[in-house]
Amino acid sequence: MNAYALACPTTNESVLIDPGADPDTLSEMLANTVPIAILITHSHFDHIDKLDEMRKRLKVPVMAHSGPHSDGVKLSADRFLDDGDIVAVGNHLLRVYYAPGHINDQICFALEEDERVIVGDTIFDGGPGKTWSVAGFQTTLQTLRDVVLPWSDDTYCYPGHGPSFRLGDNRKAIESFLAKDHGDFLGDATWDM
Ligand SMILES: [Zn+2]
Ligand SMILES: [Zn+2]
Repeated sequence: MNAYALACPTTNESVLIDPGADPDTLSEMLANTVPIAILITHSHFDHIDKLDEMRKRLKVPVMAHSGPHSDGVKLSADRFLDDGDIVAVGNHLLRVYYAPGHINDQICFALEEDERVIVGDTIFDGGPGKTWSVAGFQTTLQTLRDVVLPWSDDTYCYPGHGPSFRLGDNRKAIESFLAKDHGDFLGDATWDM
């Protein structure tokens, strides 16, 4: 699973995104920066497993969507984020996009005046995030239409698993995926199905 650290090169302030595992590596990623927050893309266990530990180490506010969160997860955030909210990291701004489907508390963090978006499990190079219900899959389709496709071709998506990719390179595949009737599908989808 991919964790991310974003740091402002001017002020040195940083945020940690998705403390899923390996606290020592996460701390190293933040070395020589001034962490100001821990951001959560969504509450699946693999993305938050080391949240308590990193919260203890960094002593910074935790920011996440208000949920509902993953079954059985009690995510106590200091600030709840919703679509359109802004998180400042030094001289840079992160804009929050609400992107439900894979899970109800999924959000993306887009760097303003930049092409990069931390998308969590919203979208991967090979397909959209996994769903566990027909309704969840339908919501994913809506999120792809309303949230993801309006981003420019030169948007670079940094997902919760696997490699980053340029949105424009997948746009045709996503559009033809959306044009198809997937019936009562749920589960692990790929663009070519
Ligand atoms: Zn997930
Ligand atoms: Zn994940």
